[in-house]
Amino acid sequence: MKVKVAQCYDDGVATDIKMIEILRKYNAKATFNLCPGLLPATERIEPYRLAPEDKSWSYKGFRGGHVAISELTDIYKGFEVASHCWEHENAGMVEDKVFIDSAVRTKDFLEDTFQRPCRGFAYPCSRHTPSTEKMLADAGFAYARTVDAVDDIKTCHSLMIFNPNTHFMAPDFMEKFAKAKSTGMFYFWGHTYELTDDPELWEECERRIAAISADPDVEWVNVTDLAEEVKKYL
Ligand SMILES: [Zn+2]
Repeated sequence: MKVKVAQCYDDGVATDIKMIEILRKYNAKATFNLCPGLLPATERIEPYRLAPEDKSWSYKGFRGGHVAISELTDIYKGFEVASHCWEHENAGMVEDKVFIDSAVRTKDFLEDTFQRPCRGFAYPCSRHTPSTEKMLADAGFAYARTVDAVDDIKTCHSLMIFNPNTHFMAPDFMEKFAKAKSTGMFYFWGHTYELTDDPELWEECERRIAAISADPDVEWVNVTDLAEEVKKYL
């Protein structure tokens, strides 16, 4: 059975650059969910390890840095980009108007920057509420992604609560893929900074991308294309 596979990565971190090299090597598509308001204008912030005494937020002592606005179209050339709010605003944690303005401002910015439609959305911190789900649909978004894993992505009741199959580094990732094949679709998500500067994690991630690409039944698609497919079952 043919299976459409989509993946997406959040936040516009500088480790996306290394991921994109891997994706290009295996002709894999991916969607990158960006927060333009958090990105530096021209100077990329490279990934780095925090000093041991630095107690600010990090992922296991590592930060993925940020790509610069000035290099967005070069870095993400050929890949789909989607809105992840202007400054990662969380639905239900800010006023609805602030949230939707932030989501749409990002959409408009990405459409201007990349000169193509931007219809995807990923909820920052996966937070969503009935009113923000409706506002995103009314604003023209095709789908809005959560991080709540499901076995069959066609079982969602609305594309404004679009649940993926799994996380890209889940221990049972390949089993999830095997299981999802019978549904005809597989969708996974992550943050490239979760691979940190650990070569073994990057190798494991590359093995997974390579295995999916080597599967003759697989067709890599953008998340908006997958959402279009799911829509047929709603
Ligand atoms: Zn995020």
